Amino acid sequence: MNGAAPTDPLPVQLAGLARIELRDPLVISDLHLAAGAPATLERFLRFCAEEAAAHAELLILGDLFEYWIGDDTLDDEADAVSRRVAAALRALSERGVRVYVMHGNRDLLLGSGFLRATGAQLLADPAVVLIGGRQVLLAHGDAWCTQDREYMRFRASVRQEATQRQFLAGPRAARLAFMGAARASSEAGKRAKATEIMDVTPSVVDQALRASGLRLLIHGHTHRPAVHRFDLDGAPAERWVLPDWDFDMQPVRGGAIGVKDGELVSVPLAA
Ligand code: MN
Repeated sequence: MNGAAPTDPLPVQLAGLARIELRDPLVISDLHLAAGAPATLERFLRFCAEEAAAHAELLILGDLFEYWIGDDTLDDEADAVSRRVAAALRALSERGVRVYVMHGNRDLLLGSGFLRATGAQLLADPAVVLIGGRQVLLAHGDAWCTQDREYMRFRASVRQEATQRQFLAGPRAARLAFMGAARASSEAGKRAKATEIMDVTPSVVDQALRASGLRLLIHGHTHRPAVHRFDLDGAPAERWVLPDWDFDMQPVRGGAIGVKDGELVSVPLAA
């Protein structure tokens, strides 16, 4: 890696506050890449070399990794996943594909070292981009799951810079142990929570669209791929939800959102 310290979590630049014009993007999220899901990792590496390489831009709207304990992961010889993913994104950047990464709730510690290693730019959450002359609001989606009050409290805490610095200052083993416990607790919590609690709150999505003046939105996080078409204050609005990826289980899941003739389209990915 390029010498980033694990205590250097903050992004060197925030793309997405400015309006980025996209020519021919592929948008993905929620790959949850980890050593325990080797087929999903291989599919992502092939996706970079084949599908994404044929586009102008790749946008990753969070949870690329199942967890991220700091950019020093890239220096860990035993961690092949992070280095292979970074190399694949670096190869895309070098062939001229612009790569954008947004933090998810699983990998919100992706920092400037990761961006330097991959050539990616960090997208703010939410971000506004231009596709075919139309403004589109992009978000991971977890910030809108407001019915899950317990998660919203946790989210507010872990998004604080002081909390992140303190975590990243700890030894690697302690950070790994913490992340393992947090993931186990999240899995247990999910089983106990009603399904609507873990989806976005429609009125909060409406507020976000009103606040941005937009009527088109793409997000991930909920693992409920769909295109929701609805009326907002008398105007048609669309909420596109990205699929999560899992090529280690049958039937396989995964996909992207692309653009055809100026319109958003679902792009399924075969095994
Ligand atoms: Mn998520």
